[in-house]
Amino acid sequence: MKISSWGRLSQDKHHVISLSDHHQAAGLIQQSNPGICFGNGRSYGDVCLNPGGTLWQTSTLNRFIHFDEQTGRLRCEAGVLLRDIQRTLVPRGWMLPVTPGTQLITVGGAIANDVHGKNHHVLGSFGDHVHAFRLLKTDGTLLDCSPHTNLFKATIGGMGLTGIILDAELQLRAIKSPWLTTDTVPYHSLDEFFELADASEQAWEHTVSWIDCLSGSQARGIFLRANHADAAPAGNKAPSAKQLTMPLTPPLSLVNGLSLRPFNELYYRLQARKAGPSVAHYEPFSYPLDALQHWNRMYGPRGFYQYQCVVPRTNARDAIAALLDSIRHAGAGSFLAVLKTFGDRPAPGLLSFPMPGATLALDFPNKGSKTLQLFSVLDNIVREAGGRLYAAKDARMPADMFAAGYPNVPEFLTHRDPGISSAMSRRLFGS
Ligand SMILES: Cc1cc2nc3c(=O)[nH]c(=O)nc-3n(C[C@H](O)[C@H](O)[C@H](O)COP(=O)(O)OP(=O)(O)OC[C@H]3O[C@@H](n4cnc5c(N)ncnc54)[C@H](O)[C@@H]3O)c2cc1C
Repeated sequence: MKISSWGRLSQDKHHVISLSDHHQAAGLIQQSNPGICFGNGRSYGDVCLNPGGTLWQTSTLNRFIHFDEQTGRLRCEAGVLLRDIQRTLVPRGWMLPVTPGTQLITVGGAIANDVHGKNHHVLGSFGDHVHAFRLLKTDGTLLDCSPHTNLFKATIGGMGLTGIILDAELQLRAIKSPWLTTDTVPYHSLDEFFELADASEQAWEHTVSWIDCLSGSQARGIFLRANHADAAPAGNKAPSAKQLTMPLTPPLSLVNGLSLRPFNELYYRLQARKAGPSVAHYEPFSYPLDALQHWNRMYGPRGFYQYQCVVPRTNARDAIAALLDSIRHAGAGSFLAVLKTFGDRPAPGLLSFPMPGATLALDFPNKGSKTLQLFSVLDNIVREAGGRLYAAKDARMPADMFAAGYPNVPEFLTHRDPGISSAMSRRLFGS
């Protein structure tokens, strides 16, 4: 079966095997390794791909196992979507503490990339809220893993390379309502962005910003901050569950030099008009892109890359300015550009992406060598700043850049399962 990840950069044949329970999975995996788990394919690059080889599809491991209404502890299988957890348990007063910009991902995918949300400075990453999981090794061994064990730390953010997560126990957080009080603040320079981020850390749980990638180091953008509200505001209705769909793939990317500048101008002006306090339901605030199914088709048949880096706080301002200047000179990027800060918290995984600093994430339509050349320039800026790239978004980072950015690689490799292999693992670690 031909399979793509979210960036649609390739469409290679895979031998897909659906896992449905522990015993069936153990037998199938022993016969079909090497392979790699495929959750919901929301990673942008090759972390979940194994061209010409086996994919273990985990979306069929989709059962809730137990929920304790008193403590907020949930045990569920690894293929359950975060959206299903949220929609089932939010009405009962419990929510996942950390979710990324889409809720259409599986629990296994959230653990394997140790995903982060807009509240890293308060609640860390997804792995900080995992109490335990069961890990199936490709030799058939089943292990119960809990925090403070090395295999647990290697699996959180371990890109699916330590074993197959069958189910996990998660700690949810209590909420009083599904609503957020929000504040929208336009900014006009990177200095202003960092001042806003610093000033918001104490009082606001969620912080994020859209940045105009063509504004270079002048950097204008829209800063959003939010807190959970105690009650639904009078007269506000929950958003409709209706989704729009991008019906087909256009022959050329709709994101190009002609569309980008006017779109950014329009978006900035429209958002700036909303400046000030407001209220929002958690779904449209946290997952705006989920409202348009298959939005990734807009980049045309050649697909797109996402480049997401994090740079340490000390030199973040200069590094982000240099990145934005390079992107502006290349006339590249897209309107999906996010700048936010991470808090100063110890990472739960050996290969967790977040570090104290600022993270920039941008989509780039795939223009072949032109795009890759720009990435080499960006890589040098990130390396010099002591930063790193995010595996969940990556499809091309060189192995030496990964090794330089992730000092725990040697320890991680001692926990690798030899029966697991992906396009990314071969690129970053060799065989
Ligand atoms: C619109 C959008 C917004 C996003 N925003 C963010 C964001 O804000 N923050 C962020 O951190 N990420 C973000 N992401 C990335 C996304 O959260 C991650 O790529 C996530 O890991 C995808 O999960 P998935 O279930 O689709 O897994 P896949 O993409 O299918 O797989 C991801 C990894 O998990 C492994 N895996 C999956 N299931 C298992 C299992 N049962 N056992 C072992 N390994 C397993 C796979 O082998 C692979 O290595 C975003 C993605 C999109 C499309």
